[in-house]
Amino acid sequence: MAQTESYFAGLDVGGTTVKSILIDDRGETAGRMVEVRSRVKDGYEATFGQLEQALTELAASAGIERTAIRGIGLDVPAPSSDGVIWGRANLADDWVGRDIRDRFSARVGVPVYMTNDGNAAAVGEYAMRRKHIGSLLFVAPGTGLGGGLVLPGGRVYEGANGLALEVGHISVPFTEDDGELPECSCGLKGCVEAWVSLVALRRRLRFELAKEAWAEHPLTLDPAPIEEKAFKLRDFAASGDPLATKIFEQQGMILGYALADLVRVFDPGLVVIGGGLAETTFRDRYLEWILEGFDTRAWPMYRRSPLDADKETTRFEWAIGGDSAAALGMAFTAWEMFR
Ligand SMILES: [Zn+2]
Repeated sequence: MAQTESYFAGLDVGGTTVKSILIDDRGETAGRMVEVRSRVKDGYEATFGQLEQALTELAASAGIERTAIRGIGLDVPAPSSDGVIWGRANLADDWVGRDIRDRFSARVGVPVYMTNDGNAAAVGEYAMRRKHIGSLLFVAPGTGLGGGLVLPGGRVYEGANGLALEVGHISVPFTEDDGELPECSCGLKGCVEAWVSLVALRRRLRFELAKEAWAEHPLTLDPAPIEEKAFKLRDFAASGDPLATKIFEQQGMILGYALADLVRVFDPGLVVIGGGLAETTFRDRYLEWILEGFDTRAWPMYRRSPLDADKETTRFEWAIGGDSAAALGMAFTAWEMFR
């Protein structure tokens, strides 16, 4: 394949790794995905060093000079506005309140666009669906519950301050077994993320394992800490275990319930569900639970057109980008903005 003049890099900064992808000026991927350690907890300067290493490795994998990279899309696991991070999340303190985007741009000598990881993955899913021309709402249950909204044409909706689509922190009216609204990692109570996240799985598992009904369950007898047990839940659910099924069923239904309100507000036409669940063998069942929850809250017209019963008004799909969606989304955005 003939080489093109300009290349665009997407850098997805996570808590432990930086995933990166290069595309050429026709929007085709070049070379291979490169993954390096992120060092976010050592501060932004240490992370910049890792990002530069990723750029060097990307260029080498595509057989080009690094100077051929003409623009960069960068995503970070924190709320940010205009290249400045507003909230700490899992980053070292020195990330907050600094012009991260402009400092990195000055260091590497190319224009940089910056947004959060949920937005980045949403654009990645959009970019991978080349025939899709409408909008796309993305949600990803993981450590937390991230999301993003892509408008027709591929631009992500960030809001006036870059703070839109913090979908994990809309409220849902569900109470825990103790009658309380569960606490969320953000400090509020009753957020949907407090039900649909890894943290939520740990709390729910603790409540369930305390019940007489599960006294003989392998996870009750397992001496491992609750964090490890929560990790094992997916495998249990995959083999049809009733406790794991009960917990994921509730999670899926509450996610569907929250999606009903999001779809009522944005009417995206397409909802893409990402995160680790997209890779599980029980995802078909999980999607049924989402739709069950959705139907308890959404009006029927948000599923099917009242004018044409065959026409779906909201399609639900699993993510197809895996853990490279965010990096691809950022490369795609850099290509759109800087070519
Ligand atoms: Zn919250």
